[in-house]
Amino acid sequence: MRRVSIFGATGSIGQNTIDLIARDPQSYDVVALTGGRNVAQLARDAIRLNADVAVTCFDDELPSLRDALAGSGVEAAAGEAAMHDAATRPADWVMSAIVGAAGLAPGLRALEQGATLALANKESLVTAGPLLMQTARDHGGRVLPVDSEHSAIFQGLVGEDINAVERIIITASGGAFRDWPMDDLAKATVEQASTHPNWNMGQRITIDSASMFNKALEVIETKEFFGVLPNQIEVVVHPESMIHALVGFHDGALMAHVGAPDMRHAIGYALHWPDRKPLPVERLDLTKIGQFTFRAPDPDRYPALPLAWRVMEEGGLSGAIFNAAKERALDLFIDRQIGFLDMARVVERTMDAISPRQGLQNDIPDLDTIRDADKEARRVASQMIEQLG
Ligand code: NAD
Ligand code: MG
Repeated sequence: MRRVSIFGATGSIGQNTIDLIARDPQSYDVVALTGGRNVAQLARDAIRLNADVAVTCFDDELPSLRDALAGSGVEAAAGEAAMHDAATRPADWVMSAIVGAAGLAPGLRALEQGATLALANKESLVTAGPLLMQTARDHGGRVLPVDSEHSAIFQGLVGEDINAVERIIITASGGAFRDWPMDDLAKATVEQASTHPNWNMGQRITIDSASMFNKALEVIETKEFFGVLPNQIEVVVHPESMIHALVGFHDGALMAHVGAPDMRHAIGYALHWPDRKPLPVERLDLTKIGQFTFRAPDPDRYPALPLAWRVMEEGGLSGAIFNAAKERALDLFIDRQIGFLDMARVVERTMDAISPRQGLQNDIPDLDTIRDADKEARRVASQMIEQLG
């Protein structure tokens, strides 16, 4: 039996992970499930999967979680220290599906135990890619990509020499506003930005898809995970979301990964890796689909996207600053304090205001240094509201 934990179990990725595990309960010994305010769901799943412990990140939710778990034998815990403890419980496979930079520390703890970390939390790699990968190497842990594009690239590289890779193309749906008139974008509402044309995901990543901040994060994630150069990474808009990524080799061949827009493809691949097992996903009928289309991303429509290359060139703490400023700008948009297009402005100006080398003593910043940069970027991003005008 494999010991598994799921961080962010109540979210979109967490629920898809639970769906796969619950289909084959005999194969898994569930250690920890973590979540936020949705304690009823957390408790239901913890009982159903017979987890050792269920943890909510909010201290004030402990009484409700305790009530919901009463008599079940599943331990209830809450708060930051409990999240930390859950991440240090020995597990063979850990799903990292918390949203935002909050997912970084639990992922690091799991890697320090030598676990295989199935990484949906792309913010970890953007914020602290070198630290995360080094922690895995130092402790015999392993990181497996769960973002659909990165799982696709990973699968395209099986049996290949990374030195034969010329380029990596990641696809983008174009998000909610890909066909909107440009003049309407500034007025786009939170509700409009929270609807994705193809994927069913958490609200934050859905809005990030509309702005293409999500794709910017994924470009950086590609560099950090596969170690390719910034100029080897390309983004193409592919409205059908069926081709998830393509790997281009130096003989000119392109290897594409094609599948329905269902995250259980990528979660299942990481769960069963290095094997490939049957998955309950739709089988595509290509004759019904008829055609796949592609277009170049328009930088005027998606000003967030070019920022990824700036982050990769600057290095150091730039990823941490970029991600934190993006998270803060997204909070401000969701709180209706800034407009849709202001998010990219806030992030760019925050990057202008903070040097990515500030406070950087060595090439791999440690967690405290990264946290300081993250905090500072959120503070500076909050102040940018006044400058927008
Ligand atoms: P979601 O909002 O649906 O779920 C987030 C989970 O994290 C919930 O369980 C929530 O309780 C928990 N959480 C939120 N804030 C927390 C905090 N501060 N501390 C501890 N736990 C916290 O998000 P999602 O769409 O499932 O995305 C999760 C991660 O996976 C994100 O990093 C996202 O970018 C990535 N991802 C998601 C998809 C997708 O299809 N949803 C695809 C690729 C990558
Ligand atoms: Mg993705």
